[in-house]
Amino acid sequence: EESKSTSREEERKARIPLAVGLKSKRQKRVLVTGGAGFVGSHLVDRLIERGDNVIVIDNYFTGRKENVIHHIGNPNFELIRHDVVEPILLEVDQIYHLACPASPVHYKFNPVKTIISFFLHKTNVVGTLNMLGLAKRVGARFLLTSTSEVYGDPLQHPQAETYWGNVNPIGVRSCYDEGKRVAETLAMDYHRGAGIEVRIARIFNTYGPRMCLDDGRVVSNFVAQALRKDPLTVYGDGKQTRSFQFVSDLVEGLMRLMEGEHVGPFNLGNPGEFTMLELAQVVQETIDPNAKIEFRPNTEDDPHMRKPDISKAKELLGWQPNVSLREGLPRMVTDFRQRLFGDSKGGDK
Ligand code: NAD
Ligand code: UDP
Ligand code: UDP
Repeated sequence: EESKSTSREEERKARIPLAVGLKSKRQKRVLVTGGAGFVGSHLVDRLIERGDNVIVIDNYFTGRKENVIHHIGNPNFELIRHDVVEPILLEVDQIYHLACPASPVHYKFNPVKTIISFFLHKTNVVGTLNMLGLAKRVGARFLLTSTSEVYGDPLQHPQAETYWGNVNPIGVRSCYDEGKRVAETLAMDYHRGAGIEVRIARIFNTYGPRMCLDDGRVVSNFVAQALRKDPLTVYGDGKQTRSFQFVSDLVEGLMRLMEGEHVGPFNLGNPGEFTMLELAQVVQETIDPNAKIEFRPNTEDDPHMRKPDISKAKELLGWQPNVSLREGLPRMVTDFRQRLFGDSKGGDK
């Protein structure tokens, strides 16, 4: 075993000179799984801007080629249609593992729910295992995008990373939250057992341009509804809370985590907490003060409150979000108007 891993290490070192790139510093080769999705595509923009060599793998389950189309033709960018459930051989220095359908509509409301949840499990379990196997083979650093959902319907508020969570293992959301919990476990197993450098981010509700228009998440729902002059659908009594982070803040946090020396897990989120009724109000103020509100029954096992304690990320990563909901929302609205109506005025027409 010993000699096998040594020769693997030598093999890896021997490969490095082939990639010696610009100036004195070697260009980083970065894999972003799920890079054609909402968060992934913003991350890719920053990595390309920084001069990295970026490979995206995505099966377009919830992502879109349009999100990264502006990089096609750039020699530093490569887009591969691939499902992470299947093994893949690549040579990279860092892996940002984002592949996972993040929107609840895909697991809460889908008529073929069992198939979707099975697919989610496979992506979270087999997909994460494959990417960890890849990280092990090439000695890459591996970052997992986990989620605040690992805290379930939390009994501690706000949630610190030390909280173990309150998750229903057999509920409708469990394919997502238990899937991510397994992914965290696998990452830590590979870290402890195989010496892989891992990083774990627990991402809280994030919004911004390029979110899927009809993905069922609350911010994208409200914004699209207000722009289309449809009523805003508030589930339950609307008193449940969430804390909304603008995507650029998240991407900054992910990159700091990857480049830093700490495994985590780290909460990455904006501590500004809103009830869904308050969110509806901010959307009304931003888009249409006359937008109506319509109450709908809530979904099962919906967490009553959620707010990150970000002391750890502040202290160890020097990170904190800068964009408030009132600043971030208009930037998303501009993008949604463009995509819904093909212009920058949109709903006024
Ligand atoms: P997204 O759905 O826009 O992006 C996920 C991407 O992964 C999509 O492009 C999708 O096509 C791809 N994908 C899914 N399954 C795949 C598979 N088996 N093989 C290859 N590609 C696959 O979601 P997002 O909001 O950009 O989320 C990115 C990551 O961040 C996810 O891991 C998600 O769980 C996590 N996260 C997001 C939020 C949020 O609020 N956006 C919150 C917590 C965690
Ligand atoms: N794997 C991969 N790409 C690689 C190396 C591994 O997709 O470059 C997959 C491999 O197919 C396996 C998983 O990652 O299913 C875990 O790999 P590991 O080497 O840890 O486990 P083993 O193959 O020994 O079971
Ligand atoms: N929600 C809502 N109206 C919608 C969509 C969602 O009131 O049109 C509520 C949902 O019940 C939950 C909160 O908004 O309490 C956040 O839901 P989302 O699906 O965006 O994220 P998650 O539940 O994963 O935090």
